[in-house]
Order: sequence, then structure tokens, then C-alpha cells
Amino acid sequence: MSDHITLAHGNGGRFMRELIEDIFARALAESRIDTSADAAAIEWHEGIAMITSDSFTVKPLQFPGGDIGSLAVHGTINDLAVSGATPHYLTLNAIIEEGFAIEQLRTLIASLAQAAHKCAVRIVAGDTKVVSRGEGSGLYLATTGVGFRPASVDLGMRHITAGDQIIVSGPAGDHGTAVMLAREQFGLRGDLQSDAASVVPLTHAVRELSGLRFMRDPTRGGVATVMHEIARATGFGVRLHETAIPVRDSVRTVCEMLGYDPLYLACEGRVVAVAAPHAADELLKRWRSVADGKEAALIGTITDHSAVVLETALGGERLLQELEDDPLPRIC
Ligand code: MG
Repeated sequence: MSDHITLAHGNGGRFMRELIEDIFARALAESRIDTSADAAAIEWHEGIAMITSDSFTVKPLQFPGGDIGSLAVHGTINDLAVSGATPHYLTLNAIIEEGFAIEQLRTLIASLAQAAHKCAVRIVAGDTKVVSRGEGSGLYLATTGVGFRPASVDLGMRHITAGDQIIVSGPAGDHGTAVMLAREQFGLRGDLQSDAASVVPLTHAVRELSGLRFMRDPTRGGVATVMHEIARATGFGVRLHETAIPVRDSVRTVCEMLGYDPLYLACEGRVVAVAAPHAADELLKRWRSVADGKEAALIGTITDHSAVVLETALGGERLLQELEDDPLPRIC
């Protein structure tokens, strides 16, 4: 086999079969993927089946704390997890550019397989395509995730009402900042790591809590964007307390230097929850007892006014605008 992807690796013939067997089927052996079948059978677990779809174009392909392979697993299963589901199955589509190094592909798919193992999800189906040099950007991944939600878990923005409390599971903006630094174009180097991880331990700890209304993972557009999504969908407003929102010093420093607001930067391993006032303390307690929830914090309240307002550290108020420009394209 050549060291780099050629168009023949996508032609349906021997090279493609060898690529799939050598890279994908080998790495995903634990998933018991059947590359000879046209469709996979999956076993039904309890409750209601939930399905989600995602694609990954992150640049660079590897960054401190993760890579496109592990991100494809975490990003997809996290959307199931915040919906109250337990993720079980993934499909994987890889769109590979001619000339891509096969060793790098092997490394990235091994990372994906390792993340799937850790998260107890199986890759049950997939597809590979090769595009001509200059028509791709190395590697894109696309996934579909399937999970099952207990019928007793009923979350959604429709449950949100004024007075509800807003809780975040950990510091904001780590992923966005780590990927930005990994691009090197800023000439900065930090010890910053992406927060990219499964949020299943966090969501499982609270999904059956009475008074939990809604959860979402603040990915593109960050925490501020989730607040706008809530305000738009519910007609209620949001009041956030700047001093209560956890942001790492290193993230704050980089953001100040480069003119970013960490509230708009992507996280890939955090959850924002909205809970009734009587449930907020219990939710915080449960999150803080989970490894990735040690820095969970109550950051704000749902209000009757339809604006997203930040109470600043200096005691003032400022409107958090809805994101317009993309501050960091291809972050996930
Ligand atoms: Mg999401």
C-alpha cells in the first residue's frame, strides 16, 4: 500500500478494500463492524431511541487534549447525552483528500476507536470517500449517533420558566482557546488543553433529577450562544453573573491578548443546565462529585425580560449580543 491516500483508495476496488480493512476495520475490531454488510442491525435498549448527526472539520486535525478522531466520538455522543439519552451506536463517514498520509489516518482512527471504547459506544457502520488533491482539507469526518433515553426523562426548553437557575459544569472556552493556539499563526504557545470529553458521566448524574428542565453542551458560539438559544425559544431572558462564571486564568489571558470573549468560545466537554430553584443545589452537588464537574458553578437566572444580560465584575450591566461573525471557524 502506498504511504499516502490516492484516488484509487476511493475507487471501490482492491486499494479501497485494503484501506478499510487495514485502517478502519482493524482499529474498530472491538465494535465488531461488519464491512461486508450493506446495513447494520442494532439492538434496542430501553426507552425511546434518539438519533443525532454531526460532522467534523476541525483545523488542525490534532490539538492539545484531542484530535478529529476523539472529537468525532465526543461531539456526537454529547448531543445524545444532553438530551438525556445513553449513547450506544455511531456511524462514521470519512472524506479523505488525495495525498493524505496513511500513518496519520491510522493514528486518528485509532484515537477515535479508543474514545469509542472509553465511552462504550460501537461504530456499527461507515463509509469512506476520497476527493482529489485540493478539494478537501486532509480529512473530514461525519457521524450519526444513536442512543436510548428512559421514557421517564423528559427534558426540553419548553419546561423553562422565570426564576430557574443556570448551572455550568466547568470552565468556559477551553476548547476554542486550545484549538486557536494549536494553529500557531498567533505565535503563542500555552499549556492549555481542550476540554473535549464525554459528558455522559455529568448528564447521567442528573438526568433523572426532579426539577431539571434542560441541558445543552455549549459548543460553537459557547455559553453566550446557549443563552440566546434559550431566550429566543422561550421568550424569557437570562441574567448571568460574570464573577460566577468559571474561566481559567490562561484562557482569560489569551482572550484578552487576542480580543476574544471566552463566553463565545466553544467547549467540547461542558454542559449548561437549567433547573428549578429547588433542584439547583442538588444538581451542583451531583456535578461536583463527578470528575469533570469539580468546577461546576451556578452562573445565572432565567428572567421575565427577554434579553441576555451580563452583570459585570464591576457591578455594571451589559447586553450579551447574539454572535454574528464566526470568531473561530472550523473549531469542531
Ligand atoms: Mg450540541
